[in-house]
Amino acid sequence: MSTVAVAQKDEELNVLVSTQEMIQIALNKLGYGQEVYELLKEPMRTLTVRFPVRMDDGSVQVFTGYRAQHNNAVGPTKGGIRFHPDVTEDEVKALSIWMSIKCGIAGLPYGGGKGGVICDPRSMSFPEQERLARAYVRAISQIVGPTKDIPAPDVMTNSQVMAWMMDEYSQIREFDSPNFITGKPIALGGSLGRDSSTARGVAICIREAARVKGITLEGARVVVQGFGNAGSYLAKFMHDAGAKVIGISDAYGAIHDENGLDIDSLLERRDSFGTVTKLFKNTITNKELLELDCDILVPAAIENQITKENANDIKAKIIVEAANGPTTMEATKILTEKGVLLIPDVLGNSGGVIVSYFEWVQNNQGYYWTEAEVEERLEALMVRSFETVLHTAQARNTDMRLAAYMVGIKRMAEAVELRGWV
Ligand code: GLU
Repeated sequence: MSTVAVAQKDEELNVLVSTQEMIQIALNKLGYGQEVYELLKEPMRTLTVRFPVRMDDGSVQVFTGYRAQHNNAVGPTKGGIRFHPDVTEDEVKALSIWMSIKCGIAGLPYGGGKGGVICDPRSMSFPEQERLARAYVRAISQIVGPTKDIPAPDVMTNSQVMAWMMDEYSQIREFDSPNFITGKPIALGGSLGRDSSTARGVAICIREAARVKGITLEGARVVVQGFGNAGSYLAKFMHDAGAKVIGISDAYGAIHDENGLDIDSLLERRDSFGTVTKLFKNTITNKELLELDCDILVPAAIENQITKENANDIKAKIIVEAANGPTTMEATKILTEKGVLLIPDVLGNSGGVIVSYFEWVQNNQGYYWTEAEVEERLEALMVRSFETVLHTAQARNTDMRLAAYMVGIKRMAEAVELRGWV
């Protein structure tokens, strides 16, 4: 590949730059001026921390982490923390902006935040992960809190990690603080239904998108990339709804069966990071998985999986993004021109933060809801969000991603003006 081609490819894959372009276009279409864009194009605060962690062999390893807070004009910032070797500052910044858009679409009283630590928890013991989680919270404790910035799980962090983080924060502040973090275990103030909420929201979007496209879910062929929290629950929901899940994958490869995979057995055999394909011989690549002939494709892994390199080879009629940023803006254009209905991440996976909000509300009230109440309220918010974005796309003649950005950024733009910040 020539140097120019490499540079162009990098440009396509730079999630912060492409997010800024989308924000600019959305604000322009809404009639907001350059000052609002200047304020919202970057997080208002990004903290970089370096902290030591004692490893099991007695050595000390220094880790780097980030916490980005996009904007708190609407309310405290909110968003997950990921543990992943590829975490970068720009990625965390973009993810915090996406959280703002997500909260804006759902009408939650939050701005966006995001955290990340460069590490690979798959090669760390349980006690090492605990020391890492606690050290990271100590490092960022000054800028987070129940009315400032409320973390949650993200890639390769789970309810146990949230439990350690909540405990560390409570010890620092010297009072019990369940409302500091969401996605906690039920015994520590977690919400019923939070674990499956991202997938439940994705499933609602799939149902609504299938209705728009005139596709019957019964017997529809579904491919799910990623078998972590979102991907695994979603495969189960689709299977139970009578769809045929013909392909799933993890970070190491993918498995495919035209007659439908045995999802229950895969769920039993996956490890806590969603790894399962290592147990199989006849695997295919993640690239081959994405290009399978199917009706519905759900990228539920990481960023930049569908790019201008493979967008033309995608055969799905509907794509619902469960991961954050799996499709580049260039690929979105190609897919839209091909007639694919693409439900963007900021709408598709917003079920997670919606139920996180419910969890925070329950913690603040000290009054807990039934699972049925959580699901009913999630259903109502997801359907309302879907319809608002769909109607905006139709009225403004845009794709669903741009419509989602317009809906999502509008209240924040209004809030910064009302506060007199611009
Ligand atoms: N990490 C999830 C997301 O990207 C959930 C965030 C939250 O619950 O605050 O939406």
